[in-house]
Amino acid sequence: MTTKKSKVLDLLIEGNKRFVNNKSENPNRNEERRKAISSKQSPFAIIVGCSDSRVSPEIIFDVGLGDLFVVRVAGNVIGSIELESIEYSALNLNSSIILVLGHENCRAVNAVVQNKTANLEKIAELIEPSVKKEQESETNNILEQAIKTNALNMKDLLEKSPNIEKLIQDKKIEVHAAYYNLKTGLVELLSKD
Ligand SMILES: [Zn+2]
Repeated sequence: MTTKKSKVLDLLIEGNKRFVNNKSENPNRNEERRKAISSKQSPFAIIVGCSDSRVSPEIIFDVGLGDLFVVRVAGNVIGSIELESIEYSALNLNSSIILVLGHENCRAVNAVVQNKTANLEKIAELIEPSVKKEQESETNNILEQAIKTNALNMKDLLEKSPNIEKLIQDKKIEVHAAYYNLKTGLVELLSKD
């Protein structure tokens, strides 16, 4: 894909910079905003993130109510239910980017790396190809690389979904992947575009 970084992506990057630099403005979190969006939502971005309590999208991107359509599941994986949810926003709410957000020390990915996936079978199944790829490449930091590869693989999966593919062709949506650093708060873009 050769899509250029969109202005919407810049909004997220700028918000994350404020968060990293302790300059969060906490926009759109007041009564006025609640009223303005009470009858209609138009979130500018869809975030596919991990359920991890340390990776709250509205906080780390310094945005507010009605700004993000968020799908969170352990390991930020995309199965049929997640895909339907993502496509709902992409098709009906005019969101113009989808960002798959992996994060440092993701326990779901680590469970697969450690082969300790009891009670996590369905999620693990979706993460496994990314872990296998990194194990075969004999990288030094399997966990970090597998988390990044998993986010990129979920991006690829989205781009192959017919509904999303059509929106990409019509230049209505872009799909990106990123990695969140727990200590610094920095979101690092993984997509090459
Ligand atoms: Zn996680």
